[in-house]
Order: sequence, then C-alpha cells, then structure tokens
Amino acid sequence: MSTRDKLETIFHAVMQRNPGELEFHQAVREVLDSVAPALDKHPEFAEAKIIERICEPERQIIFRVPWEDDRGEVHINRGFRVEFNSALGPYKGGLRFHPSVYLGIVKFLGFEQLFKNALTGMPIGGGKGGSDFDPKGRSDREVMRFCQSFMTELYRHIGEYTDVPAGDIGVGGREIGYLFGQYKRITNRYESGVLTGKGLSYGGAQVRREATGYGAVFFAEEMLRTAGDSIDGKRVVVSGSGNVAIYAIEKVHQLGGTVVACSDSSGYVHDDKGIDLEVLKQVKESRRQRIGQYVEHRPHATFAPGGNLWRNVPCAVAIPSATQNEIDAGDAAALIAGGCTTVVEGANMPTTPEAVRLFAEAGVRFAPGKAANAGGVAASALEMQQNASRDSWTFEYSEQRLQAVMREIHARCHATAEEYGMPGNYVAGANIDGFRRVAEAMLAQGLI
Ligand code: GLU
Repeated sequence: MSTRDKLETIFHAVMQRNPGELEFHQAVREVLDSVAPALDKHPEFAEAKIIERICEPERQIIFRVPWEDDRGEVHINRGFRVEFNSALGPYKGGLRFHPSVYLGIVKFLGFEQLFKNALTGMPIGGGKGGSDFDPKGRSDREVMRFCQSFMTELYRHIGEYTDVPAGDIGVGGREIGYLFGQYKRITNRYESGVLTGKGLSYGGAQVRREATGYGAVFFAEEMLRTAGDSIDGKRVVVSGSGNVAIYAIEKVHQLGGTVVACSDSSGYVHDDKGIDLEVLKQVKESRRQRIGQYVEHRPHATFAPGGNLWRNVPCAVAIPSATQNEIDAGDAAALIAGGCTTVVEGANMPTTPEAVRLFAEAGVRFAPGKAANAGGVAASALEMQQNASRDSWTFEYSEQRLQAVMREIHARCHATAEEYGMPGNYVAGANIDGFRRVAEAMLAQGLI
C-alpha cells in the first residue's frame, strides 16, 4: 500500500472513532494531506505508528460547571480540557469560552496547537480546553463565579510541569485573573507558571497580550520580504476585533500599511482612512460593546450589520483573525478578484480547505495559522520562562524575542517546503516541520 493510501485508511479510522467532530476531522485531514513525503523519508515513524498515536489525545477531561447568575438562577455548562500530546513539554494551549464549544472544537484546537507549539521550537506540548459558556452580556461578577467554578474542577489536572492553560476566544486578562486567583486559593500555592496571559501586576509578561496579532504581522512581513515586497503602503483587511485583530491592526499601522476594515459577529466596519485604534480599543476592549459603536466616533466610516467583509472590501493582504472556517470558497474567490495577493491566518483554521485550494491555484501566498499565529503561544512560553526564573523583561526586549521566534518559524516553514520540493507551500512546510519535531521526540520516548 502506498503511503497516501495508508494515510487515507488512518483518516477513515479517525473519523469513525470520533463521530460528528467535523472540525477535528478537518484539522487531521489537513495535516495528513501534507505528511506523506516525511513518512516516506522516515519509515521508522510509520513503523512506530506515530500518526495513529498523534491522532489520539493522551487524555480528555469533560466536567460539569455549575454557577449562579446575578438573579440567583442556576446554570450548568460543560467544561473541557484535552491534553493532546506531551512529547515536547507540558501540555500548553488556551481555553475558549464560546457557545459553539464542544469536544470536536476543543480537539481540533488541541491538534493544531500541538504542531504550532512544535514549530516555535520551544519546550511545550499541545492541549486545549474551554466551555460552552457564553460570556457575552454577562457581568464581571457572573464571569468571576463561572471562572471559579470552572477552576474548582480544572485545578486537579493542571500545573506548571503538567498542563499550562492560557486564553483564547472569550478568555482574556479578566478571566485569567479569576482563574489564577481560584487556583491559588484551592492549592495554597503561588504557582505563577500554571497559567499564562496573566496581568502584569501578578506575573504576566510584557507583549503577551499583543503577541498573536504582532506575530501574525511579523510573519506576513517576512513572507512579503522573501518575495521582495513589504507591508508598507498596503491596503489590509483584518477580520475580528478581539485580542488578535486589535494588535494585528496596531502592527500593520506601525509598519506603514492601512487596515481599512474589521468585524465582529454583528457585522463589519469599513473605514477607508484606516481603522482608528484608540476608538476600536475603547469600543471593544474597555466597553465590551458591539463593533457598530465604532462609527459613532468615526462618522465617515460605515457599519454593515451582518455584512461579510471578505466579499465587500478589496485588499492586498487579508488577515483573518475571527474564528474557524470564516473564509469559504466564495469569500476566497471575491478576495482573489479584488486583487488580494497574501493571506495570513491570525485565527485558528479560519480558511476552509476549498478556499485554501483556490488561493493556491491563484498563486496567492498563504500562511496557515499554526505558523502565522504561533506568536501568542511563543510569548506564553517566554512568560513561563520568566516565571520560572522569577524575572521580568522589558517590552522592547520581549518584542525582539517574539520577532526572532516568528522569523525563525517563517524560515523553517520556507526551508522545509523547499527541501520537500514544494517551494512557497507554507502549509506543507509548517505541517511537515511540526510533525517531524513531535515524531522524533515520541520515537525517542518509547511506546507510551
Ligand atoms: N490560544 C492561543 C493559541 O491559539 C494561545 C495559547 C497559549 O498561549 O497557550 O495559540
């Protein structure tokens, strides 16, 4: 049987074993589609069934999270932590609080995380967690009670040497603070390295908040530089308006590009003069309002309720930073028709497989999230390093470290794609390099 046929058989077994988990199937498919040449070069990986083992998480935890809202009504949510792979280090990955969260989403995110973390070259394994809790419209006190209840179960599974959660959609500085407080209270340990994304006043690291967005733009800049171009003077669209999007916009503007549109689940805003970051931060970060409020402060800008920015705002560079599968084939066709030459995934798997195919056919440069958005988790690893040595670095030094990591990831993806005869294919480069690193460590550690 050819390697491709063997991978096809493995993929079918994964689908059968994990019924209904469509996002997980999609994430596995994408990696398996890339790794055949690496398996051909390393028959020892296939012999030790590394792929089959990688597709089965080491541990999956599902738990009840009961909590009371401000009116005294009781709610029951479901909590998850999937500890995917610890070959390279303690499980590492964020927590997502969003009503769409179920086991299939957590597993897709954990699977992606494993390769992403490997690509950073840092000593972190892969994991992910979260809950179907919807923080939208909840008071600070409700969010605190939810986080305390969530941690009352989660604490027994995590630790600085075991599993280190952080934020993701719906989990930012506020939530990490409540989670850390409850962990400390239950365990009676000031274990700074148990969570990352902490506030600067209690063990957090400079540039962690900015890292995913900044990192994606550093990656974009490297890609463009390699092609003899740069972000300077480019018209850019960034979807989303959360932590990733805000700091991607900030870095694009610092590098001379102009971001003309961003969005949230209620629609998008188009501001041809360039998104005003102070206004955006005030609306989305400080006041936690909907994106439509932006145009109250920028009357020349327009708000399109429920609108799709990919189909309506042409750009040279697209940085999807909202959520999975937000760019479908129709969106990709519109982007290509509008002259887009570069797509860099700020979110995890925001581009559907059909859209990725269309970009490849049209010669659009495409950076997959597991390479381009690795800046967030890389800065988390730097936070762990500072916590372990009870040190804290300056903003400038931390940003330099982040930029060096992103350059290194870019160089590795680029070189691996060339090595395997697929120059410019960052998807193959990222998947093969990430896989090789995990596979080598697993092989060395025996059948566990
Ligand atoms: N949730 C982020 C990601 O998708 C960050 C994870 C972390 O810092 O552990 O990579």
